[in-house]
Amino acid sequence: MSGLVEIQEDVRLRVEEICGAHGNWPCRKGCDECCRRLAAAPRVTEAEWTAIAGAIEAMPGDAAEEARQRIRGAAGLERPVVCPLLDGESGSCLVYAARPVACRAYGFYAERHEVLGCGRIEAISREQGDVVWGNHAGLEERLGRLGPAAELWVWLEAGERRG
Ligand code: SF4
Ligand code: SF4
Repeated sequence: MSGLVEIQEDVRLRVEEICGAHGNWPCRKGCDECCRRLAAAPRVTEAEWTAIAGAIEAMPGDAAEEARQRIRGAAGLERPVVCPLLDGESGSCLVYAARPVACRAYGFYAERHEVLGCGRIEAISREQGDVVWGNHAGLEERLGRLGPAAELWVWLEAGERRG
């Protein structure tokens, strides 16, 4: 199992456990506020980008080029940033199966027991003391071991330069 796949699997298990123990967890398809209000456009490792680029490549018709254009257009945007990989109509992620680890973990991992960013999750964090959050710092460390992270457009342009 590759380092990325192992991390993805660990996050999946943490998410599954939290959702299993807490019915009505609010993170679900169509709840896209977090994707619409990013502090900055997503930064990913090269391994994550390779998966995302493959998912974009597989999009039908003009969708792939439109996604690439949105990625280029997100360069230098300031918060709140709408993720260039969000399907604005359905509120779903265009590369869901290949989405970054940060997106998989968002709403389920905490830094020193503090879950920040989404009001709904912050409320759960205050009201329910029995949530076993994932360790955000540990996750970051594991991701860091995969290699440096960069914005989507940086990887896109690097790939285009290589041809
Ligand atoms: S983190 Fe918040 S906004 Fe994002 S999916 Fe979960 S509940 Fe919805
Ligand atoms: S990559 Fe997908 S899940 Fe992550 S912020 Fe963008 S639209 Fe949301």
